[in-house]
Amino acid sequence: MPDRARPVVREDRGVSDAPALSVVVPAYDEAEVLPDFAARLRAVLDALAGDGRLDGYEVLVVDDGSRDATPVVLARLRREWPQLRVVRLRANAGHQAALSAGLRRARGRLGVLTMDADLQDPPEVLPDVLAATADADVVYAVRGDRSVDSALKRTTASAFYRLVRRLGLGAPAQAGDFRWMSRAAVDVVLGLPEQHRVLRLVVPALGFDAATVRYVRGARGAGRTKYPVHRMLRLSLDAITGSSTAPLRLASLFGLGGGALTFLLLLYALVSFLFDSTVPGWTSTVAIVAGVGTLQLLCLGILGEYVGRLYVQAQGRPAYLVASDTGEEGGGPP
Ligand code: UDP
Ligand code: MG
Repeated sequence: MPDRARPVVREDRGVSDAPALSVVVPAYDEAEVLPDFAARLRAVLDALAGDGRLDGYEVLVVDDGSRDATPVVLARLRREWPQLRVVRLRANAGHQAALSAGLRRARGRLGVLTMDADLQDPPEVLPDVLAATADADVVYAVRGDRSVDSALKRTTASAFYRLVRRLGLGAPAQAGDFRWMSRAAVDVVLGLPEQHRVLRLVVPALGFDAATVRYVRGARGAGRTKYPVHRMLRLSLDAITGSSTAPLRLASLFGLGGGALTFLLLLYALVSFLFDSTVPGWTSTVAIVAGVGTLQLLCLGILGEYVGRLYVQAQGRPAYLVASDTGEEGGGPP
């Protein structure tokens, strides 16, 4: 299978000295939790590297324009932890943009793991995640137990995943951004021209072989959540409009519904007119208002369909991805 030839391909390009794994961690005002996070992550990664399960790693913390002591804390940690790399963004660009920045810069030869800095994604799950990478291009760490999250967070999150499923976007439920992606998968995601990608819907849409590892969501180590309700709403809107043009169809649906209503209204207006119980001009006014409204909605709907197609085109996501081709060198399953 072509994917299994990944390391060889990378070596051809002269980057064989790159570490096997990059861990990308977006951090925004996380000074309080970072020392703990670094200690726990380092213990796990050093153990994996120590017994040969991991051929080198780098940890890439993307400081998303923090205004607290995060840069200072990171600089201090870096002095003792050579594998720690810090990328600082000029301004707060948001969680998803920080993830994209990290993915773009990650050198991981075999793959990239993304996780939160606040210890809600426990580093101790890493060995399980890495064990699952053997026969998958994407490994989702799925939150089996979210009892530490607030009731509001849990209800909104499950509503979001239900809606996503309804729209036919095959994202695994409760898979956030705690995820491992093979180098091949990362390269495909980076190759998309899309700027504001919401990875948790983009990655599943690409149809890579995936595995899941369940874990218990930890409590935030320290500090406060950076996702107040308006940010969650914004993320959901970005996610859905970024992966589905269904909302654009609403105008068409309203137009059709409006058409049916108009028809009934016209019947009613006509009957009233025939039985002479109307003020002069009422029937025609109702007919015109209802008819024009329906026509406008229908036209908007048609426009929406075309805007939708343009949008999909502009996103440039591949219509398909070939998993293997027996005609190619290396071959694949027959
Ligand atoms: N984060 C970020 N930029 C932001 C908001 C959040 O890099 O603008 C990071 C944050 O530091 C954390 C991760 O994204 O590592 C998830 O954020 P948080 O834990 O606040 O969200 P929650 O778990 O409450 O949904
Ligand atoms: Mg969190």
